[in-house]
Amino acid sequence: MSRILLLHTGGTIGMTKTENGYQPDGEYFRQAVFHMDSLKKADMPEWDFMETETLLDSSRMKVKDWNMIGSVIAEHYKDYDGFVILHGTDTMAYTASALSFMLKGLNKPVILTGSQIPLCETRSDGRDNLITSMMIAGEGKVREVCIYFGGLLLRGNRATKYSAEGMQAFVSPNWPPLATAGISIQYNESAFLQHRSEKFELRPFADIPIGVLKVFPGIRFELFESVIAGRLKGVVLETFGAGNIPDDEGLLPLLKKAEENGTVLTVCSQCVQATVDMSTYEAGSALRKAGAVTGHDLTTEAAVAKLYYLFSVYNDAGSVKFNMERDIRGELTSRIEL
Ligand code: ASP
Repeated sequence: MSRILLLHTGGTIGMTKTENGYQPDGEYFRQAVFHMDSLKKADMPEWDFMETETLLDSSRMKVKDWNMIGSVIAEHYKDYDGFVILHGTDTMAYTASALSFMLKGLNKPVILTGSQIPLCETRSDGRDNLITSMMIAGEGKVREVCIYFGGLLLRGNRATKYSAEGMQAFVSPNWPPLATAGISIQYNESAFLQHRSEKFELRPFADIPIGVLKVFPGIRFELFESVIAGRLKGVVLETFGAGNIPDDEGLLPLLKKAEENGTVLTVCSQCVQATVDMSTYEAGSALRKAGAVTGHDLTTEAAVAKLYYLFSVYNDAGSVKFNMERDIRGELTSRIEL
């Protein structure tokens, strides 16, 4: 019989209504989980329940909260066969990406889940999300950081929140689902992460200044000087299509300054389904020439988490750039010669 740890961090799943709107309610959620008959059935793993000191709406998650979730997993890594993290949907894809980098050598399931409708409401999707996540964590077939939501098991660092309305809140635009849960749970083993035999270790993040800039027609880059060439160590540029950017004359001097400052500019796409190739169009090649790195098909969430991770591990921009373009945890697929 496998044993898993449930860690409640906040989010809609455990919220109840207050006069100011839904808020995390630890007491309610704990009682609800302990009284849920399905969780006591023979086909469920054994489980223990923990909650973080402060339950958060996930829009309030910070780097220290990612580190804290990572440290709970690391502290109890040997005691459990898998982990289910109950989390708000708003930043679930960021936390899943962060954990995927932070938990080096992970060889057990870490499944993040939550719900669109609180468990206290009649039509809540939280019940299935919780039960199925626990089953997946208990089965132990998939041994990486995932998001389970609305019938799909997705690699955490490939997922992005797609809907604030539907029960299918997440998609994984550039990588197939790792499993689909219909009448039975069908695993897609060919999509699983290939494990290297590495020792498990926690690599907490330093709280590095990181930024994200979405370009738009008419952008005057000089107005964003403090973002591109200021004090940020890493910037994710959300560009058009395959990595194209408007030809504003203010851009090149800024790129040069960013390069001199050691700021790592990572080029991602505004298209959900895309791979960046800055050599495809003349409109993208200036970025490459100026030393920006390609984010390939990284989601913005994964690019942000990866910048935090790499700057926590390496002191020099060169090593960050080199590793940014390479696959570390199944977060990107490179279709171009580097
Ligand atoms: N604001 C909530 C959160 O992210 C939304 C949710 O959980 O669906 O915590």
